[in-house]
Amino acid sequence: MSCNTTTDQEYDLQTVKINQLLQQVNHKIVVMSGKGGVGKSTIATNLAVFLSNQGYKVGLLDVDVHGPSVTGLLGVTGLKLNIIDNQIQPYPYSDNLKAVSIQGLLNQPDDPIICRGPIKISLIRQFLSDVNWGQLDFLIIDSPPGTGDEPLTVAQTVTGCQAVIVTTPQEIALADVRKSIHFCQKVDMPIIGIIENMSSFICPSCGEQHDIFKSGGGKKMASDWNIPFLGQLPIDQGIVSAGDDGKPINSLTSHTKDKMQGIVDQLIHQLTIKEKGVEKTMKIAIPLAKGKLSTHFGHCEQFAFITVENGNITKQETLTPPPHAPGVIPKWVADQGCTDILVGGMGEAAQTILQQRGVKVLCGSPSDTPANLVSLYLSGKLVNTDNACDHDHEGHSCSH
Ligand code: ADP
Repeated sequence: MSCNTTTDQEYDLQTVKINQLLQQVNHKIVVMSGKGGVGKSTIATNLAVFLSNQGYKVGLLDVDVHGPSVTGLLGVTGLKLNIIDNQIQPYPYSDNLKAVSIQGLLNQPDDPIICRGPIKISLIRQFLSDVNWGQLDFLIIDSPPGTGDEPLTVAQTVTGCQAVIVTTPQEIALADVRKSIHFCQKVDMPIIGIIENMSSFICPSCGEQHDIFKSGGGKKMASDWNIPFLGQLPIDQGIVSAGDDGKPINSLTSHTKDKMQGIVDQLIHQLTIKEKGVEKTMKIAIPLAKGKLSTHFGHCEQFAFITVENGNITKQETLTPPPHAPGVIPKWVADQGCTDILVGGMGEAAQTILQQRGVKVLCGSPSDTPANLVSLYLSGKLVNTDNACDHDHEGHSCSH
């Protein structure tokens, strides 16, 4: 591959080719950050690895011309990419994950790539037009920090590309995130959500949490800008080892793995919301007994009502229902403006009343806290169990 600029005609042909190739990719996601060193490449790589482990076909593309790091994080530094029939063959990292980095085209891994803006743009476009990805569920693109040529080329070239923004919680990083948000708005690139990395440190000896770079800044920024918040990842020495050893996931603590999985679940949830045009604001009702889901819908002590806006819980209230009488409680629940209800079981009559009022009923939820249930529901992990709906879990017919 050479760093040549193209004529107008070649440019147009290349654009057509890029769009044809990328039509085979369902979700194109560029991972951005305002600053360097906030863990953008680490998160891009982990997103790709977690998604591929979940069974999705994933491509990971490193467009960081000056500081490519994805190959190092995957442990394949020094690996040369094959070019067959003028097409770059991505490195098959696993059955479901292929990777391409400019690193793979260098003679020596430590060779610097020295080129200015227009050459860099043409290099990235060539990358996009020459890689034979095949059919993919996700293409994760790791771009350098800031709002320079690389993210701009991706935004302008990759039709349908969406952004994930990574930040650390402290103000100096957040100030640059605001620039990334403005950038996405200017180039009309939808933002799937914000991830807060290095959010806190849990001491492995005493288990105490220390907010070394503060905590919650990314979450607040997401809420201020009404952008979905995808989750927080703690500071984990295992992440450094995993990156340095080129063995993603291996050295992560189970706490970090859970957090990363939560971020992936949120990402999928947000994409589903966007795709299906699901209502942006939900009010989810859950019947309660002693703070957990009660399997007695018609005879529960209280109801939790949880408001979710753009995938984030923004309000939680607990209300006492009126005394039990046929049909009263479903009507009361609907009167609260509820859009969804999670129950263990519910009779048909109650379901019909709720559905007629536009409330979505999900039966078969386990007895858990409202926050846990909503999180499972939003990540698509609560499955409607039809046979739980004829009776509540105590075996009582529950048609009121
Ligand atoms: P960026 O792509 O934003 O420049 P990197 O992903 O290269 O940042 O990460 C920079 C350094 O920070 C790497 O050494 C990486 O292992 C480390 N790192 C990233 N996220 C975490 C984390 N959550 N905990 C500990 N170290 C981290």
